[in-house]
Amino acid sequence: MNTIKHVFFDLDNTLWDFRKNARFALAELYIKHDVENRYGFTFDEFHPHYHESNEGLWALIRDKKISKEELRDRRFKDAFRTLGIDNDALAVIFEEEYMETITNYNEVVDGAIELLDYLKPKYSLHIITNGFIEVSKRKIESSDLQNYFETVTYADEIKVLKPDPRIFDLAMEKSQANKKESIYIGDDWIADAVGAKAFGMRAIFFDRLDDNFTMDEVPTIKHLDEVRSFL
Ligand SMILES: [Mg+2]
Repeated sequence: MNTIKHVFFDLDNTLWDFRKNARFALAELYIKHDVENRYGFTFDEFHPHYHESNEGLWALIRDKKISKEELRDRRFKDAFRTLGIDNDALAVIFEEEYMETITNYNEVVDGAIELLDYLKPKYSLHIITNGFIEVSKRKIESSDLQNYFETVTYADEIKVLKPDPRIFDLAMEKSQANKKESIYIGDDWIADAVGAKAFGMRAIFFDRLDDNFTMDEVPTIKHLDEVRSFL
């Protein structure tokens, strides 16, 4: 791939470890609100219930069956209820404090900084994210990810989400890149791998959850270290 000049990355769970930071934030809230002492469940007992509730509701959003507001209203209530904790006020507090608390944590994905140090002298580096502008900026600026990227393209800027080709177009325009000289690396099969390939870029699928989806001409990696064998 020696014609590549630009490397584009997804942000959440490709570089910034959303799952890990979310877990830290929830553990902090769990202690702050004394949930274990009040209800007898440890955080490790609670967390899979939250995970299941959150993932299930996100799937319903993707299928356009519920709104983001409904997810925010339900994910903690449902998680607590499946544990037999009937306290909607507590669920409301968790939801309110969660997004604030998560910004206290800025762990990046294992191998991210080593990879960026390796790529930076050879390529122009960029981010394309479906996240909110202010939140995503804060993640980049308060983590070790600052100083590596020439451009960041936010889906919010034009109100469409990856895999919509318009977001990739905007990224090309902002970075003055040509898609034939660009490659995209991301952890979401549809938004990232399928989206970038359909747009006409090369793509690498970062399969962190062992989804094992495959497509011609799109290599799969399980750890960021493996990117070096392509670039
Ligand atoms: Mg992602």
